[in-house]
Amino acid sequence: MAIVTLKEILDSAEAGKYAVGSFNVINYESVRGILDAAQLVRSPVILAIAQIQLDDVDFASIMNIMVHEAEKASVPVAVHLDHGLDFRTIQEAVRLGCSSVMFDGSALPLQENIRLTKQVVDYAHTRNVSVEGEVGEMGRGNGGEKPSMTDLEDAKKFVSETGVDALAAAFGTVHGMMRTKPALDLELLKRLHENVDTHLVVHGGSGLVLEDYRRMIERGIRKINYFTYGYRDAARALKTYIEANPDALYDELSFFIQEAFKEIFTGVMEAFGSAGQA
Ligand SMILES: [Zn+2]
Repeated sequence: MAIVTLKEILDSAEAGKYAVGSFNVINYESVRGILDAAQLVRSPVILAIAQIQLDDVDFASIMNIMVHEAEKASVPVAVHLDHGLDFRTIQEAVRLGCSSVMFDGSALPLQENIRLTKQVVDYAHTRNVSVEGEVGEMGRGNGGEKPSMTDLEDAKKFVSETGVDALAAAFGTVHGMMRTKPALDLELLKRLHENVDTHLVVHGGSGLVLEDYRRMIERGIRKINYFTYGYRDAARALKTYIEANPDALYDELSFFIQEAFKEIFTGVMEAFGSAGQA
């Protein structure tokens, strides 16, 4: 199975009424564990690296791992740049093999967000690369600020003028660790799905329970960015393992963490309904 675009993955998800997980990776172990999970349960999957992670991870090195492993996989894999913030990084992502890029202009005034996102779409689409945009700002769980909801009219205008393949919408989720359960505006989500001609994405899926995912998928969410709780659960599993095996060398821990990722993300793919769809 070759690497596929985000649009191909999300068109299938729309037809089958399920969502596909987008999982940020940090190293070889996380790439392997997530792809092992996807192949085990026959799920399409999105491997992502966010521009902010590139402060700590060399872009070309991690992309080589992602692209090489994705090409070997027996399920459809999109390789995605998450929260791209400038055109130069978008170009670099495409050059290194991303089949999908997100341009995050959500902090900009709408008209400027549209202008820059359109520039990214024009560049990416001629290279068969999908584009995700964002309207409305999601808050951060540990910052305590309230997210501003996506305005329906802004979203319609943004999608029709940019031609994005996917739209990250803000309807109550926040990034990072949650202190309290998020208040989701599911009615807004439903209206976005009915009125906006693109695939809908939710960021900041941590802190929700399985029932919340089911409700979001029913109302049109097709891509779920899931990071914090997956990595928290992997860390917890590793701590337990080290306590039980205090003399384990690092190579053993590295193999353990790959297995832990595989188990955790298998459960996530089942919850999103993408298991069995590849
Ligand atoms: Zn995000």
